[in-house]
Amino acid sequence: MKRYIDHAALGRKMAALPGVEVLVHVYSSLENGQAGARRIRAGNNPAYQPAGAFEAHAHRHQDGTAVWARYVGDLDLPPLATTMTVRVHELCAQDGVIGVRVATVEISARCQVCGGPRGEVREYRTTRDGEELVSDVWGNPCGHVDFDEAVLEEARRRQARYRPKAKPVPPELRGVEGGRYRAAVDAIAEALQTAPWTRANTAARFLEEQGQTEAADAVRAFVREYPTGGQASARAAALYLIAQDEEAKSGEVAE
Ligand SMILES: [Zn+2]
Repeated sequence: MKRYIDHAALGRKMAALPGVEVLVHVYSSLENGQAGARRIRAGNNPAYQPAGAFEAHAHRHQDGTAVWARYVGDLDLPPLATTMTVRVHELCAQDGVIGVRVATVEISARCQVCGGPRGEVREYRTTRDGEELVSDVWGNPCGHVDFDEAVLEEARRRQARYRPKAKPVPPELRGVEGGRYRAAVDAIAEALQTAPWTRANTAARFLEEQGQTEAADAVRAFVREYPTGGQASARAAALYLIAQDEEAKSGEVAE
């Protein structure tokens, strides 16, 4: 049976709750789910326009592939987490006695039943045999409950599947000595300390306010050229300004 999807209503619901993921549909196949998510991102349906205003991803669902989407507009939202590190209770046997200890494990940031986002983690303190145990608890917005045993099992499966990778170190943001965008780059770097998900357009606005008109214009030009336009990050814009200054500098040396 083909179920009618009211995209107009879904789009309105998402726009009313920016950043909050909404379940769009459960597709029978991964391919159909991924195609559905792509259509939302591209804004093929008027409900999800302009293109890029909505973010959508396909996730495993117990009955197939679920597409979850959210409105991002041009807001400075942090990207969706893919994994989360949690502390859970684990049974352990010591000298023939069953005890409880806290294990720190990495799991998916998605509910394993419906693919929805898992809930925010809160610290949970309890005392056992006179010893304080500090672990994490979370309630999933979808209502599915994550029990410690299932979480530990998921973590074990992940560990067997993934080999730990060294995280690439992001390039440092620092203005080029003598560069014309030096002050602008340093200003963006400072802003990112407190607001790491600032968009390039936001950066252009505060550079303008600081009287750094030239840098603000350069950032806006960068956004216009950027593949996803307004979704360009301030970090990407700063790296662009650094590259501009470095290029100018190497040009001077060559002359
Ligand atoms: Zn769920």
